[in-house]
Amino acid sequence: LERYEIIKKLGETLNPSLALFLSSGAFSDVYRARDKRSGQTVAIKVAQKYADDNPMIDMQHLHPNMKKKPRVTERANILKEVQIMRNIHHPNIVQLLQFTESRKNYFLVLDLCEGGELFHRIVDLTYFSEDLSRHIIGQLAQAVYHLHEECGVVHRDIKPENILFEPIPLIPSEQRKFHAFDDATKKDEGVFTKGVGGGGIGQVKLADFGLSKIIWDKDTLTPCGTVGYTAPEIVCDQKYSKGVDMWAMGCVLYTMLCGFPPFYDESISALTHKVARGQFSFLSPWWDPISDDAKNLIQGLLCVDPRKRYTVRQVLQHPWLTGKKPTLHSPA
Ligand code: ADP
Ligand code: MG
Repeated sequence: LERYEIIKKLGETLNPSLALFLSSGAFSDVYRARDKRSGQTVAIKVAQKYADDNPMIDMQHLHPNMKKKPRVTERANILKEVQIMRNIHHPNIVQLLQFTESRKNYFLVLDLCEGGELFHRIVDLTYFSEDLSRHIIGQLAQAVYHLHEECGVVHRDIKPENILFEPIPLIPSEQRKFHAFDDATKKDEGVFTKGVGGGGIGQVKLADFGLSKIIWDKDTLTPCGTVGYTAPEIVCDQKYSKGVDMWAMGCVLYTMLCGFPPFYDESISALTHKVARGQFSFLSPWWDPISDDAKNLIQGLLCVDPRKRYTVRQVLQHPWLTGKKPTLHSPA
């Protein structure tokens, strides 16, 4: 690891209004670093083997000599993340370059995404045009297709903070100024820039395999033990576990298009209730200008029954992405 020179810390989420909705605590520190030999800049994700602060179990009630014991699941988790990432090579997935450990830490050396999080772009731009959203969802779907159909992996943590990108310079025709006007107060809120077209977002890369899982699937030929003895609920669970990524993709698309998430409530129990019932709406006036194709895709993804929810194949063939009208019957 002496090979790398740490430049600065990455991915510290500020606290704008959207952070309230979207952010959940990150477990690791990620740094921008330079490979002293090659000059290449990389990202290094550092995970502590034994966290000093929160994830400790106090054993003192068992015996006064027993102090705090570190949570033991950490090691297995980070090693699983590495094991999964090692086998994945795709243009829309962050590449693991190297893995090392010291006495106290694990280090994942990753391909650096200069643009940072999609999350920050949503905050900057308020919301994205349909073209820009299509540009992003198309690439995200390619990444998920590779995971689900070619690797037998479910990501399980798809959200704007884990979607990174390479920036591209804005073409002047893509930079449009909009005037925000608050109808209620009749106050001019000033000018803001909204991205259209590429919107400064180039290649999109899915990151953070900390919660990902390898699944058994007949189609992907992932060897995961003998099927003959697997209970039906496990087989079903694995069959539909890919659906969690599709649901999350629906939430990401919804949020990109309007700037707020499909499900929100200040009370956790009320929020849980809304999610469980799939209770969301295309609120006016924000959703009025948005195409029926986009809404249909979101409805297919935010479908409570995982058996009826769109798969990644259906997303890739959806008219909103392809620009074509469906030739076969479209799944309801
Ligand atoms: P955690 O499990 O802590 O959420 P992540 O892998 O999501 O860890 O990394 C946390 C944050 O660090 C990301 O949301 C992003 O802002 C930044 N980050 C992670 N990997 C990279 C990378 N390859 N390039 C640029 N930034 C990155
Ligand atoms: Mg993350």
